[in-house]
Amino acid sequence: MYDMKALYEAGSVEEAVSLRLEHPEAQIIAGGSDVLVQMREGKRAGAELISIYGIDTLRGVRMEEDGTLRIGSLTSFSHITRDTLIQRYINVLGQAVDQVGGPQIRNIGTIGGNTCNGVTSADSASTLFAWDAIIELTGQAGTRRVPIQEFYIRAGKVDIRAGEIQTGILIPQKSYENTYGHYIKYAMRNAMDIATLGTSVNVRLSADKKTVERARVAFGVAGPIPLRAATAERLSAGQPVSEELAERFAQAVKEDINPRDSWRASRDFRLHIAVESAKRAFLESMKLAGGAL
Ligand SMILES: Cc1cc2nc3c(=O)[nH]c(=O)nc-3n(C[C@H](O)[C@H](O)[C@H](O)COP(=O)(O)OP(=O)(O)OC[C@H]3O[C@@H](n4cnc5c(N)ncnc54)[C@H](O)[C@@H]3O)c2cc1C
Repeated sequence: MYDMKALYEAGSVEEAVSLRLEHPEAQIIAGGSDVLVQMREGKRAGAELISIYGIDTLRGVRMEEDGTLRIGSLTSFSHITRDTLIQRYINVLGQAVDQVGGPQIRNIGTIGGNTCNGVTSADSASTLFAWDAIIELTGQAGTRRVPIQEFYIRAGKVDIRAGEIQTGILIPQKSYENTYGHYIKYAMRNAMDIATLGTSVNVRLSADKKTVERARVAFGVAGPIPLRAATAERLSAGQPVSEELAERFAQAVKEDINPRDSWRASRDFRLHIAVESAKRAFLESMKLAGGAL
């Protein structure tokens, strides 16, 4: 059923890095919910695979000493949704990945796989963009950290160099403290469908909850890779919490997005959904942050 030349199983990050260097043509496989589907479709015939699924140190969510939240690359979607640190500090990420596929996919699919496939519709990606996530990559020379906006190079292509694997996704404390967010997945049906458009917004309000200190908004499927809408972010900083601000914020997202026509939806429809979702997600985020609306 699967036309595979060889499967190498790594028991540790070091072993995975060595296997990557020994077999440069081999592809990493984590949960396999993308890779195995592609192989079953006949793509990658005769592929060599390096499984990292057994590296338990890459699983789970931790808080580091400096307050950074660290999500291991092999952490499954269902784990993320149930995790108490995620629920407390970035609840929106748990909600976003709870909209991936169905329960089986959420149990096997990993956040590492969801970001390394470089796909614009990945349900975790827009929220990770909106929270300024940092991608940790480990290779022979040690680890390097890359802001997620630089990690995505083009559709399907991310910044993973020869001999490297992604080992973690980091959310610095300055990104999540006093910050509340909301994700809206617009899909053609409610389950087992990828996003026609994904919108993730978060806001931080002033101590008296009357002013937006800063807002972040990122989209999936509004361009070839996930992207932030900087004009709307700039426009809202320092502005009073109001419905009128939500309207202006939402209209401004059109300045930075560039969706395309596809069989799922036209560009115009995606623009319409982007504005409406940005408004709703911004209003909801302000409410979650304690803003009076
Ligand atoms: C029925 C179905 C429904 C789906 N629905 C959705 C959906 O609604 N939303 C959504 O976002 N996705 C969806 N997906 C896609 C998929 O489940 C996700 O992209 C998932 O996160 C992939 O994770 P994985 O561990 O299974 O990755 P794999 O298939 O193992 O790998 C995916 C890619 O990432 C690379 N990779 C994986 N981990 C690493 C690592 N640590 N370091 C370096 N490279 C790595 C692999 O080489 C491969 O290129 C769906 C898939 C199926 C089959």
